[in-house]
Amino acid sequence: MRIDVVSIFPDYLAPLGLSLVGKARAAGLVDLRVHDLRAWAVDRHHTVDDTPTGGGAGMVMRPDVWGTALDELVTDTTHLLIPTPSGATFTQRTAEALAAAPHLVIACGRYEGIDARVAAHYRTRIQVTEVSIGDYVLGGGEAAALVMVEAVTRLLPGVIGNPESLVEESHGADGLLEYPVFTRPVTWAGLDVPAVLTSGHHGKITRWRRDEALTRTSARRPDLIEALDAATVDRGDLALL
Ligand code: SAM
Repeated sequence: MRIDVVSIFPDYLAPLGLSLVGKARAAGLVDLRVHDLRAWAVDRHHTVDDTPTGGGAGMVMRPDVWGTALDELVTDTTHLLIPTPSGATFTQRTAEALAAAPHLVIACGRYEGIDARVAAHYRTRIQVTEVSIGDYVLGGGEAAALVMVEAVTRLLPGVIGNPESLVEESHGADGLLEYPVFTRPVTWAGLDVPAVLTSGHHGKITRWRRDEALTRTSARRPDLIEALDAATVDRGDLALL
């Protein structure tokens, strides 16, 4: 997969050289490039913004500068992502869908955002998604790009050493939050690891984890319980639901 991220603060994307994404890049599993939008600005001051048409506070990013940049980066198979708090909420399902795309371009807005004609124009040529990482307002799209790149990259084949890790986790196929996890030492700060986990009884461990996942999801995210697929609920679950 190739991912291009365009920003006026390319240094903000430096963490994409670290940890899981950094290793995936080094292994050639993702070809990730970060670009400075100002490289496509034509005036002496590398201006990328202007005042809002119709008045109002702040500045808006110019469509012509974005257009020159995106024309150079997009192909027919590109999925263009435009982070914005007014976009569709980014979820694990979004990450899964994007992980199947051959090429993502992420256009990081700043100020009051990017002139709306940019999304409209590219929507006539390629797939465009205006996407929000949550119901709050950030100063720019870079933090959203970091979130999306990491969530997508960890789903690419070969990136996570043990693909089993992707099966039993929150927001996965079972629709539940993950059960609590523990490691050594067995006793810490007067707290013991639940005895069932050291019993060696795999059936009981599986049942305990499922029960904990159900209990935790009911308490923290009742909306996920409401949305559970009846086909994934087993007889043992019913006592808890
Ligand atoms: N005026 C815009 C509004 O009210 O919808 C907010 C602009 S915000 C200050 C500047 C940029 O931050 C946006 O263009 C977008 O790239 C990014 N941004 C802010 N909040 C975001 C969120 N929740 N999800 C994704 N991107 C966000």
